Amino acid sequence: MIEPLIFEISRPGRCATSLPELDVEPAELPAGLVREELSLPEVSEADLIRHYTRLSQLNYAVDTGFYPLGSCTMKYNPKINEEVARLPGFARLHPYQDVETVQGALFLMYSLQAFLQEIGGFAGVSLQPAAGAHGELTGVLMMRAYHLDRGDVARDVVLVPDSAHGTNPASISMSGLRAVEVPSDERGNVDLETLAAACREHSDHLVGMMLTNPNTLGLFDEHLAEIVALVHEHGGLMYGDGANMNALLGITRPGDLGFDVLHYNLHKTFSTPHGGGGPGSGPVGASSALVDFLPGPIVAIDPERSEGDDPFFALINPPKSIGRVKSFYGHFGVMVRAYTYIRMLGAEGLRRVAEYAVLNGNYLMSQIKDVYHVPYDRTCMHEFVCEGRFPDAPGVRALDIAKRLIDYGFHPPTNYFPLIVHEALMIEPTETESKETLDRFAEALLKIAQEARTDPALLHQAPHNAPLRRLDEVRAAKELILRWQPE
Ligand SMILES: *Cc1c(COP(=O)(O)O)cnc(C)c1O
Repeated sequence: MIEPLIFEISRPGRCATSLPELDVEPAELPAGLVREELSLPEVSEADLIRHYTRLSQLNYAVDTGFYPLGSCTMKYNPKINEEVARLPGFARLHPYQDVETVQGALFLMYSLQAFLQEIGGFAGVSLQPAAGAHGELTGVLMMRAYHLDRGDVARDVVLVPDSAHGTNPASISMSGLRAVEVPSDERGNVDLETLAAACREHSDHLVGMMLTNPNTLGLFDEHLAEIVALVHEHGGLMYGDGANMNALLGITRPGDLGFDVLHYNLHKTFSTPHGGGGPGSGPVGASSALVDFLPGPIVAIDPERSEGDDPFFALINPPKSIGRVKSFYGHFGVMVRAYTYIRMLGAEGLRRVAEYAVLNGNYLMSQIKDVYHVPYDRTCMHEFVCEGRFPDAPGVRALDIAKRLIDYGFHPPTNYFPLIVHEALMIEPTETESKETLDRFAEALLKIAQEARTDPALLHQAPHNAPLRRLDEVRAAKELILRWQPE
């Protein structure tokens, strides 16, 4: 059991620091600078260190344990990324500096654009968007701009499968367009017949389709070529939600599969610490048809200012750019980490990421699927979705299983998403976990399935040994209090 956290540890006169003796004349501080009314806590050094160390230990983190949060790709983040991001030449730059003085940073951005272009099979990449959902908005605005540029002003429909991440329809409606849902078939693919009918119905209005592949069931769509052909046939464009690139790295490229535009989640696939709302980075890649619409600025080599083998990097705006979507350069610190990650792994290493991510997904699924029903039971990619319910334990829900996992020392999987699976548990082990960890996790899940039958109350009341029990999750998100204030 963890003791309740006590915040009121201040006692008058205690102090955590001692300043060196003055070796100059003391000077009066300007009036008004010292705010006597601030009741700053007075604590000893030991109290201070213990307070913050205990706070840090209340956090569950990728650095402390297995984090199978489906779709979020909570892989281990190599520490060299952090070291590189902290190099003063990167960390102490100022966005208002003249480009002549930030050529190293621009070289990094230029290289990262080129790496992502190569990995995704695209003609160009913009690093501007702040995260995945922002990349989606950017991509959809580019598709819209493409049609408007051709004078095709009636197009306002974007098709989206019922398995899509909620941000997809949100991005469509934020772009002033209409989302039309397409159901999945019994194998977890987009239902081709309904798709064909929707394409015909909306042919003159079709902006395109947003598709996640592998989709949020962790399945590679078996009719991808037909889907792409259908949408293109009706004048639409294919948007790829690249949050699941972890399964594809070095094996196949969305650009080669027919996607016209795609966002990457640098903070998922390319390992930067994320969660709690940030930071992220959601670069967008575009085919030759859409590359001119990318948001600027983009880093390019300026031949006029380059000398010999010494390129000069400049910021440019693509000719038909939708404009800026982010201030300054985007989230540069995340770019440094992604660049380091890609350079450390190299092409072969990136391919192994995808191979092991898929292997781990399938291994874990095989360990539990006799007990946890997998409704779309076929070879999965980097993640899979099972049901968190049992016919002979009717009161137990996915939420209870998720909370009970906390007692076993694991972060719960994603639950209640995708919406097309009842009591969904979406499990993404990632490539960085060992067989021993996967075995321990599977064992915990199997044990919980037994408890669901023998002692359901244990599950309903879980977690039992976490610092906080069940939260009001809506209030916790809407009325988040991040700051302690003195009474
Ligand atoms: C995470 C995710 C997003 C959104 O990305 P953010 O960086 O969280 O905004 C979109 N689609 C899918 C499938 C995702 O997993």
